[in-house]
Amino acid sequence: MRETWHSGDMRLTILGSSGSVPAPGNPASGYLVSAGDAPSLLIDMGPGVLAALQEVQDPTDAHVLLSHLHADHCADFPSLMVWRRFHPDAEAKSRNFCFAPSYAPVHLGRLSSDDPDGVDDMSDTFAFSPWQERVPELIDRVTVTPYRVVHPVETYALRVVENSTGRIITYSGDTAYTEALVDAARDADIFLCEATWGDSPQDKAPGMHISAQEAGEIATLAGVGKLIITHIPPWVDPERAVTAAGEYFDGPIIAGRPGMQFDL
Ligand SMILES: [Zn+2]
Ligand SMILES: [Zn+2]
Repeated sequence: MRETWHSGDMRLTILGSSGSVPAPGNPASGYLVSAGDAPSLLIDMGPGVLAALQEVQDPTDAHVLLSHLHADHCADFPSLMVWRRFHPDAEAKSRNFCFAPSYAPVHLGRLSSDDPDGVDDMSDTFAFSPWQERVPELIDRVTVTPYRVVHPVETYALRVVENSTGRIITYSGDTAYTEALVDAARDADIFLCEATWGDSPQDKAPGMHISAQEAGEIATLAGVGKLIITHIPPWVDPERAVTAAGEYFDGPIIAGRPGMQFDL
């Protein structure tokens, strides 16, 4: 697949788009960004994402970027540790980066430890770096900038820019409505935006998530090219969400599904 690419190509693959919990045939949050021959960027690792990743590429050939540490965004990380360390013939040959909130090595190390009170030291296979608010990280051929958004735990929207073409993918992470997300999505070619609340924010808990209506509003304010609605829980109708977003955004809107690929 990669052999046919041209310099500057960037590809987004949706591995899982189910919100809050996995769904039949759809892992919880997982997105793969590939640019040329560099290791891919695996953005979030909810339940089922490692299986979906195996269908697309070598799971060790990826840096991991975590928007936040809720289980539906990172629960497959310990399984990736098993693959990287113990796969009989395809273990990790070198360390990769893991960009995440600052407490990730402890939080994920607890999940990966054999000792109930222990923390697995995972520095043998990942070089951990904490996100710093709006500080761009150069990762091979792309630059990733984290924007702190509004959620009960430390969470970042991620703006991914391909350095040679300037093409932009923005991922919302999980967030309530915030101007920071407009900043993160400014002029993005693809805006991958959560819409956990379905068509409307009415009667929903504050400070946690947004609706498709709000995703549409933010897409318009930011001037994005294409809106992909994601993080849709199994109890929400994705087509109603797309319709609701369409009342606030004139551009193309897609309900993200696993296996979808977008080249830009
Ligand atoms: Zn979530
Ligand atoms: Zn969350």
